[in-house]
Amino acid sequence: MRRPMVAGNWKMHGTRASVAELTEGLGNLSLPAGVEVAVFPPALFVTEVINGLQGKGIIVGAQNSAIQPEQGALTGEVAPSQWAEVGCKLVLIGHSERRQIIGETDEVLNRKFAAAQAGGLTPVLCVGETLEEREAGKTLEVVGRQLSSIIDACGVKALANAVIAYEPVWAIGTGLTATPQQAQDVHAAIRAQLQVLDAEVADNMRLLYGGSVKAANAAELFGMPDIDGGLIGGASLNADEFGAICRAAGH
Ligand code: PEP
Repeated sequence: MRRPMVAGNWKMHGTRASVAELTEGLGNLSLPAGVEVAVFPPALFVTEVINGLQGKGIIVGAQNSAIQPEQGALTGEVAPSQWAEVGCKLVLIGHSERRQIIGETDEVLNRKFAAAQAGGLTPVLCVGETLEEREAGKTLEVVGRQLSSIIDACGVKALANAVIAYEPVWAIGTGLTATPQQAQDVHAAIRAQLQVLDAEVADNMRLLYGGSVKAANAAELFGMPDIDGGLIGGASLNADEFGAICRAAGH
């Protein structure tokens, strides 16, 4: 049985005051015991959020980490081992905003994925197609290639300690959501790709859907057989809405 996960990506949002308010709101939620809940605050607030959520059963992750596992001469970066030392457990790798806006290539992401694991973090690998790619019928090819890149570099067994988030780029922050069937089709294809290589990794892999998930559409998405929870952007900035999404994953 795969334990569902719901994770909130706060991106570059928040002031000290709004983060404190959101953290307090999260701490007051009643969350379903069977669901693993995580948040990814902006880097400079991570330790405050970890402290504020002590004992609340919510995992904290980093939105980004360096291409090498340990501390060293790498200006502006944070090493996975440094994140782990302050209490982070997860890290986002390959979010479309970092692929597209920052220009992170598959090669960089492969290094970040390996470094994250070597430094004590579990990567949440994000994959997804653009609208143009979907309209050209290339969704499965693009997502398959993004996944293969990590498998070729790190080996399929490395995915035993990872989570995958399918996030169609056209659905992120746009209000457009993949239909449950569209999302399920891609999730099933990802699992099938893993199945050929390693049945155990495939069966245990948690596949999250991300892209304009909100309380109103979460239950339908999470009810699909290969959707094991969600990666939530905008709706995770409201504690009550996020709590409702977490409860929708607790079937
Ligand atoms: C995201 O950025 O990971 C995301 C899914 O954003 P949103 O929920 O706002 O579409």
